[in-house]
Amino acid sequence: MSAQLIDGKAFAEGLRQKVGVLAAEFEKQAARKAGLAVVLVGEDPASQVYVRSKGKQTVACGMASFEYKLPATASEEELLKLVEKLNGDRFIDGILVQLPLPGHMDEQKVIATINPDKDVDGFHIINAGRLAVGQEGFVPCTPLGCLMLLKDRLGDLSGLEAVVIGRSNIVGKPMAQLLIQESCTVTVAHSRTTDLPGVVRRADIVVAAVGRPEMVKVDWIKPGATVIDVGINRLPPEPGQEKGRLVGDVDFASVREVAGAITPVPGGVGPMTIAVLLRNALVAAYRNEGLTLASDAL
Ligand code: NAD
Repeated sequence: MSAQLIDGKAFAEGLRQKVGVLAAEFEKQAARKAGLAVVLVGEDPASQVYVRSKGKQTVACGMASFEYKLPATASEEELLKLVEKLNGDRFIDGILVQLPLPGHMDEQKVIATINPDKDVDGFHIINAGRLAVGQEGFVPCTPLGCLMLLKDRLGDLSGLEAVVIGRSNIVGKPMAQLLIQESCTVTVAHSRTTDLPGVVRRADIVVAAVGRPEMVKVDWIKPGATVIDVGINRLPPEPGQEKGRLVGDVDFASVREVAGAITPVPGGVGPMTIAVLLRNALVAAYRNEGLTLASDAL
């Protein structure tokens, strides 16, 4: 039987609508719009596309978007000064510094300079620590989006076996923390895991965040498992094509025959990331103004 498709695009659209309603409510109560600042250093084409898309979606949700562009030749000091200025600006609730930064800049130092209460990407070690001990903070957007899709599909996750493939700070590790909080039994697999297929076969929930096209095969999947594919990989173009196809880390065509539910690529996890960023920015705005937002509102 074919797996149910988890429609991240539709879920993200619903989330953005909720953010829009609550952003209007925020504006009424605070007499200003919630504000999200995005900082882009250099001219990386993929980053430019993301930043444009973030700005447009921020405005579409009724929030204020502030974009700051520095040349690739800017010094680290200039960037740190800009971040400090944004930290002190009361009209800016969330600050996102688009990664990757040029090689002469220390990403960790830049992230550490962002006020943790404006760190809507959830990359600051204070927020990583808050997540690890179960305190309120900001959770990285992609794994939080994955969790929303999982809870929407499965409801209560407690007691389920979850295998997260990948241990990066922005996806794998926070994903594992979130699943632990949901009382899953969590295994984090990575490049040194021995018998990866055997580990994945135990899972009721598989989250693949590796960056290797179609690596997760059908015979790794327990029948009925829920499969969340975070990977975004572009295959080499077929003859006559300009661009290759986008695929995930999961061999979608075969795995969908065995899984209970699966996210497609594109249209699964991808659209959730910006929607959750907007959600985080609005949550930051409510907190920064000391206004109450129901814990289950978003
Ligand atoms: P990363 O390169 O930082 O981490 C990859 C992880 O995969 C590492 O922890 C590594 O140990 C593990 N790994 C590598 N080879 C492996 C193997 N053969 N077997 C098992 N594990 C292996 O990557 P990342 O930033 O976590 O991103 C992972 C993927 O998710 C990429 O394709 C990226 O483009 C995608 N991504 C998507 C979104 C989104 O919005 N949907 C957001 C972030 C990342």
